[in-house]
Amino acid sequence: MADFGAGVQLVSWQNWSGAVQCPRSPLERPRNVDELERLIREHGAKGCLRAVGSGHSFVPFWNDGDTLLDLSAFSGLAGVEDGVARFGAGTPLHTIGPSLAQEGFALLNMGDIDRQTLAGAVATGTHGTGRGLGSLSAAVSGIELVDGRGEVRTLAAAELDAGRVALGLLGVMTAIDMRVIPAYGLHERNMKEEVEACLERFEARIAEHRHHEFWWVPRLDVCIAKTLDLIATPETAQLDELPFGEEGERWGASWQVFPSVRDLKFNEMEYAVPAASAMDCFRALRARMLDRFPKLFWPVEYRIVDGDDGWLSPTGGCEVATLSIHLAADEDPTELFAAVEPILRDYGGRPHWGKRHTLGRSELEALYPRLSDFVALRRQWDPEDRFLTPYLAALFR
Ligand SMILES: Cc1cc2nc3c(=O)[nH]c(=O)nc-3n(C[C@H](O)[C@H](O)[C@H](O)COP(=O)(O)OP(=O)(O)OC[C@H]3O[C@@H](n4cnc5c(N)ncnc54)[C@H](O)[C@@H]3O)c2cc1C
Repeated sequence: MADFGAGVQLVSWQNWSGAVQCPRSPLERPRNVDELERLIREHGAKGCLRAVGSGHSFVPFWNDGDTLLDLSAFSGLAGVEDGVARFGAGTPLHTIGPSLAQEGFALLNMGDIDRQTLAGAVATGTHGTGRGLGSLSAAVSGIELVDGRGEVRTLAAAELDAGRVALGLLGVMTAIDMRVIPAYGLHERNMKEEVEACLERFEARIAEHRHHEFWWVPRLDVCIAKTLDLIATPETAQLDELPFGEEGERWGASWQVFPSVRDLKFNEMEYAVPAASAMDCFRALRARMLDRFPKLFWPVEYRIVDGDDGWLSPTGGCEVATLSIHLAADEDPTELFAAVEPILRDYGGRPHWGKRHTLGRSELEALYPRLSDFVALRRQWDPEDRFLTPYLAALFR
């Protein structure tokens, strides 16, 4: 264990699922950009510095003994101008909806939950579902960060495409500009269906509804289909949580309807597969899981995400379907994930950066034509590898 010196606050930290543990790590809470710059410049050889969002990623972005950076002082909406909202990078997603609504705006899309920070969600390409709707990082139009040399950078053009999904490797984001649209409401409907019926309806539904996705539950071999349709923001919302697997409907402001509550802890693998072959991929996955894991309760989730130009965007610039496989946090997912990952890869899948995968550097290079450009930029902006934990070093040194 490194010698952290007198006066350093050590904390015991773990990620949401509990699989990543940092029982004895220094914690820093810079209050402004000046403090953050100084902290990075003076960090020297005291191990890595890693920003922490809400810890909802499932992979070891953090290593015990790393200095954890809490960016909660960089939080809140600074203003909206010309359809672009500027946020502190550490803003929790669940505070974005209400603050944007006061200005008459909303995010274009959101994922399953709203517990992440904006920076954490952007850094890993976090997404929801819907034809023509990209990930949160795709809606980013500007980033301000402090790089590994302690220099403030404002990203534009190609640098922005490098930085929109960057896993914290190019610097610590302090502010993020998001394209926003006028506030809107959503009407959610959940239906339980026989699998083939759900798959046959998929194309029509994704075309007809602003958002559509389904979950397939192996143990019951049924699907839960969900649609979200645009409505005017209703004066009276109906927001009772729909228990997973039950049919029902609810409505309200978009930011109220997008997120669900996820009480049961799990670990997850997800791959983004080119949309044209993704349904075949799902069918192959279903066959393998019915054969090998027919009693599994945890569902497979199937969503659609539009392509974007991020150098490390798992979309690869084209429409993709994402297939997510879950297992309870207290069970070892190795066997399940090892059984499904080859299928996801066979269909040209790219892994979600915040979720489990076993790909190495050469495999990622084959999937990401700009990976070597990204690594060159990383070396330039973080020449002393301040942000490079062992897990990330194996992929991006
Ligand atoms: C219950 C649950 C539901 C989920 N639902 C979805 C979903 O619907 N769609 C989806 O795509 N994903 C989903 N995820 C995955 C999750 O959105 C991502 O892993 C996301 O990165 C987590 O955000 P966070 O704030 O917790 O970031 P963290 O997990 O804390 O950090 C993620 C990465 O961002 C970096 N980072 C954090 N802050 C900064 C900063 N200021 N500057 C630079 N880098 C920074 C961290 O160092 C790390 O590398 C879900 C995860 C869970 C546990």
